[in-house]
Amino acid sequence: MYNSFLIKYGEIGIKGDNRHLFEDALAKRIRTLLARIDGDFDVTKTRGRIYVNCGGNWNFDETIDVLQHVFGIVGICPVVIYEKGDIEKLRADIVSYISEEHPGCTSTFKVKARRVDKEYPLTSMEVDAELGEAILMAYPSMKVDVHDPEILFDVEIRDEIYIYSKIIPGPGGMPIGTAGKAMLLLSGGIDSPVAGWMIAKRGVTLDATYFHAPPYTSERAKQKVVDLAKQIAAYAGPIRLHIVNFTDIQLAIYDRCPHNELTIIMRRYMMKIAEHFAKEDGDLGLVTGESIGQVASQTMQSLFCTDAACTMPVYRPLIGSDKNDISAIARKIGTYETSILPYEDCCTIFVAKHPVTKPILSVIEKSEQKLKSDIDDLVRTAIEQTETIIAK
Ligand code: ATP
Ligand code: MG
Repeated sequence: MYNSFLIKYGEIGIKGDNRHLFEDALAKRIRTLLARIDGDFDVTKTRGRIYVNCGGNWNFDETIDVLQHVFGIVGICPVVIYEKGDIEKLRADIVSYISEEHPGCTSTFKVKARRVDKEYPLTSMEVDAELGEAILMAYPSMKVDVHDPEILFDVEIRDEIYIYSKIIPGPGGMPIGTAGKAMLLLSGGIDSPVAGWMIAKRGVTLDATYFHAPPYTSERAKQKVVDLAKQIAAYAGPIRLHIVNFTDIQLAIYDRCPHNELTIIMRRYMMKIAEHFAKEDGDLGLVTGESIGQVASQTMQSLFCTDAACTMPVYRPLIGSDKNDISAIARKIGTYETSILPYEDCCTIFVAKHPVTKPILSVIEKSEQKLKSDIDDLVRTAIEQTETIIAK
């Protein structure tokens, strides 16, 4: 029954002179994603509104699913388009619209007409009154409530008549590509995919770095991270994923540094290497899935030591979130099931029984002196041998 969707976009609407850039980015992203499914879609931008007109062999659920992966979309309103005629025709059309869209309806309602075609003989208020009356006559158990209606019938008078009354939620946020680029440290856990998704939701394009430790970590563990990157890419667009072989660095740390400092020292080298690729890729910051106090390496003291290893800003969108809340987002965005697959992570293999929870930077730096003889070579080799793929 539908022929079109009205795309609602919240925050973009309040942008000043740059508004059109955000709207163009949103329309472009919608076009890119819709091109992958069946149907002839026409995405148009008119007077601060974006419409997706649907034709050909398109499928409603599939189209909604695509639109729910486009950051910047707050709501998706399925629209029925009617041919323009006299007011009697419009009265009949709204009655038939309700019989299809809200059968057996007894709700309170309001009609809100908008006259884009200024030639139309009735004013918006006259249309409201006519259609309100037509609805009351056809559905006597419905009631008008202009302040807090259960159903709002939007009626737009354009070259044709657009009627809609339902809003399907979109992911919100800002269109991808409107906020620079960042480097996500992506592990196979629950948190980092969510952190990446949240940063991408603000319009940031993502690159990613994953550290593995073959043969201690398996090919399946690596594949899991590639799969996670693809799942994030469904929202965020293609992700350049650097896969770093971290084994020799980890073994050196394990052999020479105090075991209770292993994780923190390892994390510092991860940050340094991720920062190297971030600079190469033109990123403006690093992103991790850390949250205060979640584990020993995420206390305030540990985060202080981690930050000191790099110069770029480190964004931690989950810093104040509880695990339950993070898991709920992971479920919503579809990464949870992959994240809980039980493959080993490089951090869990070289882990200490009693890691420091309050590391002191000068002590950590002193321990790192034990790596001095060859750590630069090991880092260089790891960087040179890094495999880079595009996850999409
Ligand atoms: P996650 O669920 O994201 O793995 P976690 O609770 O397991 O988080 P840690 O293992 O302490 O936390 O890792 C903290 C952060 O460090 C991760 O969110 C991620 O950003 C980064 N990180 C950890 N391990 C790796 C790895 N193997 N490759 C890339 N980044 C990693
Ligand atoms: Mg982890």
